[in-house]
Amino acid sequence: LRHVVSLSGGLSSAVAASRVIHRYGKEATTLWFADTLWEDEDLYRFLEDLEKWFGMTIVHQAKGITPLQVAENNHIIPCNFMALCSKELKQWECKKLLKGFEKPVTLHLGLDWTEEHRTIAPKSAYEQIKGVIVDFPLLWIPFEPWDYDKVVESWGIKIPRLYKLGFSHNNCGGRCVRQGAKEWVRLYRTFPERYREVAKWEREHTKGRSILESRKGGVEKPLFLDELEMTQGEYKLDMLGVVEDHYACLCSY
Ligand code: SF4
Repeated sequence: LRHVVSLSGGLSSAVAASRVIHRYGKEATTLWFADTLWEDEDLYRFLEDLEKWFGMTIVHQAKGITPLQVAENNHIIPCNFMALCSKELKQWECKKLLKGFEKPVTLHLGLDWTEEHRTIAPKSAYEQIKGVIVDFPLLWIPFEPWDYDKVVESWGIKIPRLYKLGFSHNNCGGRCVRQGAKEWVRLYRTFPERYREVAKWEREHTKGRSILESRKGGVEKPLFLDELEMTQGEYKLDMLGVVEDHYACLCSY
């Protein structure tokens, strides 16, 4: 029986991988990473450190386009409700990978008890492929007793720098199209060049529509990133948290 762990470049999937290797052994385990080609440089350092720690090679798979190119090809405005990049660059690539394995095969995802409500969708989606089972190693009893950053540090590995910089994830270099205003402001303050790249793209490609929406005074209207840049000085980050800032993008739905 083959066990595939989907690594996102974040802490939780790294800890999930460790649990799978511990339970099933290296021989039976495949570590897999879907590259959006829009990642933070330090994510690759983290994956290399994991390879050394686990004594295994991580399989990298990339469709060859970035999330913005996915949006262009599909003529959509990428946002929390329309994140085709997550589907095309991660979920579909993962399905391709799973179809190539002899069955049965188990796909392990790094969702934990805080995200248990998210486990239903990937389970039903991937288990449509005959012989595929989806499992969640972070839900195995006993639960991991420490914070994941402490677990990873206990391996002698530095946690990905985006966490140290305050980001809640290590996806797409902090510029996830699903995130809310709070994380965009964080991106602007940390990596202004990344922010401006997306802001420029937004003006050039979305024909008057925007990635973010303003809901000021209960009225919904487009909020362009260059407009948010002009007003971001008015905000403290803790004023801006919205539901979109609490999301997951691995190869889950
Ligand atoms: S992290 Fe965000 S931008 Fe990147 S692939 Fe996932 S949904 Fe798209």
